[in-house]
Amino acid sequence: MLFSELVELYEKIERTSKRLEMTDLLVSLFHKTPREIVDKVAYLTLGEVYPAYVGLELGVADKLALRAVRQVSGASEKQVNELMARLGDIGLVAETLIGRRGQQTLFQEPLTVETVYNALERIAKASGPGSIETKLQILSGLLSQASPTEAKHILRIVTGKMRLGIADMTILDALAIVFGGSKETRDYFERAYNLSSDIGLVAKTAALEGLEGIKNFKLIVGKPIRPMLAERLSSPEEILDKLDGSGFAEYKYDGERMQIHKKRDEVMIFSRRQENITSQYPDVVEQVKSCVKADEAILECETVAIDANTGEMLPFQELMHRKRKKEIERAVEEYPVNLFFFDLLYVDGKDLTLSPFLERRRMLEAILSETNMSRLSKGMVVENAEQLERFFQEAIESGCEGIIVKAIGPESVYRAGARGWLWIKYKRDYKSEMIDTVDLVIVGAFHGRGKRSGKYGALLMAAYNKEKDVFQTVCKVGSGFTDEDLEMFVNLLRPHIIPHRHARVDSIMEADVWVEPKIVLEIIGAEITISPTHTCGWDMARKNFGLAIRFPRYTGRLRDDKAPEDATTTDEIVEMYKRQLKKITEERVSQVEGEV
Ligand code: ATP
Repeated sequence: MLFSELVELYEKIERTSKRLEMTDLLVSLFHKTPREIVDKVAYLTLGEVYPAYVGLELGVADKLALRAVRQVSGASEKQVNELMARLGDIGLVAETLIGRRGQQTLFQEPLTVETVYNALERIAKASGPGSIETKLQILSGLLSQASPTEAKHILRIVTGKMRLGIADMTILDALAIVFGGSKETRDYFERAYNLSSDIGLVAKTAALEGLEGIKNFKLIVGKPIRPMLAERLSSPEEILDKLDGSGFAEYKYDGERMQIHKKRDEVMIFSRRQENITSQYPDVVEQVKSCVKADEAILECETVAIDANTGEMLPFQELMHRKRKKEIERAVEEYPVNLFFFDLLYVDGKDLTLSPFLERRRMLEAILSETNMSRLSKGMVVENAEQLERFFQEAIESGCEGIIVKAIGPESVYRAGARGWLWIKYKRDYKSEMIDTVDLVIVGAFHGRGKRSGKYGALLMAAYNKEKDVFQTVCKVGSGFTDEDLEMFVNLLRPHIIPHRHARVDSIMEADVWVEPKIVLEIIGAEITISPTHTCGWDMARKNFGLAIRFPRYTGRLRDDKAPEDATTTDEIVEMYKRQLKKITEERVSQVEGEV
């Protein structure tokens, strides 16, 4: 397949911001893609060469990429810098300069998708001394064969700035239509994706084995499964009601979620957002080798930092010490961790994701040798509100942030990648008018004034609308920021700045600076109100109005363990709004009754 065919499609995609049109374009792309390379086309379309969990980045800095453009186009450093300052987009700079180079030599082989993919793969894999020169050489080689438009997209891919606005979910839509026969088959595709976190593998399985292959998709040790997530409620009665009278209540530990894959002596650890974090926890790797009695297993646990002197649980922030590459050895000594295992998804050839919860828990108990460092999460079956409340208090007293109550009926499977009512969290900070913290995505920013000039004064925050796969704004947050935070946001947002609203952002408000929806912050607010200027929950509570969080404040917690799609959803905000209304009505009724 010619790379020019792919690029032609990217140009069309770039011109639309409508998801349906994007899906149609992707459908036409997959129709003409040879089956053997459908995985590569899927990765490239997302601006990647491998699934994100592999963590192998192309790692070409702008400076190096521009050096390649200079080499091939003959432009001077000054010319390149001027153009870069004017166009602000490395892809456009390459397109312009390669365009100026004039007609390519006749008889030059046109680029194929395979050639480009293989070259990018070599760039990604080049490491160690001399790797910069190797990357430069490969990139220059590619550019010398590329048309201006091809050069634009190659440059964007290698520098990690491919911004077609296409998300994994849109690719799944297109795959369902092309290989499943209709959009109705999408759930099967989503399940396969949730079980593997690998869009290329899903695409290839569909292309080679059809819908049957996707229906029979099995989890694979070494490929992270997207985590099952909990809904929230604020009273034991509501929780038990939702779970038909009983459930398995567990402490909700406040640390880092881990999904641990064990394959004999090899142990891999994935974060909540499927990043490979094995190197941060050499102690956990050793521990798992000895405490898990199975050849192959996929387990989930919450890892909590522990005070080495007292053995008490520490706030999750202490795990930050594990994030600094150079300090890991010391962190292992000074900030030991405890593991609280709460689920088992696979053991020795058996996929347990469709087994009911209590069966998974029994198997987990059977394969885990408890030690000082590794334990089962503390839990018990609860059958009435009083029992549940007592267990909750006990959890809080032990330093946990609350409990999670899990369904135990025959339907209580492990729902990969879904937030649902099979798990319900009950946390300490719920109160009737004060909402729980929410995790929102930064989609835009406003210039600061006075003391904040030169930094951002406020950030435009959005919740995730899962159905439409867009981010809808819900508040503008300007408080709770320390001076360091303000400094940090400038640096954090810089690589994500885009010239216009992102295709997946739905906003009425105009930000001074638009950014790609990438960064998730924890926000707390006073209440949720009807709003004419925010798009979250549009038309849901009142026609032509959305919902907003009043008095939002940054809690200081940057949720870099969450992908933007893991942010609080617009449905959750609508739910919170409804619950708030119900509480207010109840309070008024009891007040009136009191007065009477
Ligand atoms: P939060 O920000 O409240 O931790 P979240 O969006 O990360 O929520 P939820 O599914 O809402 O995830 O809450 C469950 C989270 O709680 C898990 O992701 C996990 O990290 C943590 N956790 C702690 N203890 C348990 C437990 N016993 N069972 C399941 N999850 C637990």
